[in-house]
Amino acid sequence: MHAPYIFADMPVDIAIPLSADERRFLQEYIADLDVVEAVKRSGVYKGRAPNPNTFASCGNRILEKQHVRIALHWLQSYRARHSEVNAEKVLMRLWSIATADASEISSVRVFSCRNCYGDDFQYQWINEFEFNFQKKKNDLVNDDGGYGYDPERRPNKECPHCKGLGERAVFLTDTRDYSPDARLLYKGAKHTRHGIEVMTHDSMRAMDMVARILGLYTEGDPNDNQMKIIVEGGLPD
Ligand SMILES: [Zn+2]
Repeated sequence: MHAPYIFADMPVDIAIPLSADERRFLQEYIADLDVVEAVKRSGVYKGRAPNPNTFASCGNRILEKQHVRIALHWLQSYRARHSEVNAEKVLMRLWSIATADASEISSVRVFSCRNCYGDDFQYQWINEFEFNFQKKKNDLVNDDGGYGYDPERRPNKECPHCKGLGERAVFLTDTRDYSPDARLLYKGAKHTRHGIEVMTHDSMRAMDMVARILGLYTEGDPNDNQMKIIVEGGLPD
């Protein structure tokens, strides 16, 4: 939100006592609450030796004035009321990250090996085209196991080759197919020497933050991970 726009909404009794310099200073100050930077950006320091110390004392002198403090308080509460960001939205976002299903992003698939469903558990080809292609490269291959290999099929428990364990592969979901929650969990992806690495936000940390915001931990020690459980009417004897 652009600061001058906020000033337009300021009640006159709060706005009138502000000098032009105080107003310029406040415009900058509410952006990041950095006194030195606010003085520098607003150009309200007129003295000699412009440096962080003189900027700080200049800014603090402005902030000490009661009418400035009243205006600052009004600006901050106005911004909190009108901002896109509020505690509830932050909480909902964290909750989504904490509860998103990571298997939507990557999952392990177990599928049948080439021998699971081949005739007499021999090597099974997908189709004749695949077999002929390999036959040209290696004359020793045969199609005794037949055709119709389907990698989507689950392993055959009777298979003597894989003992029913099949083969495993990590499957990465197309990011366009993520649900809104999975989209929040997703942090990014990169190519590594070992393939594509998908990164996600820390869901346990997000859950921890939710618990803290909701005040679910014991009040004594904020680092104490003991959950506070309140039993209505007390525990039975
Ligand atoms: Zn098998």
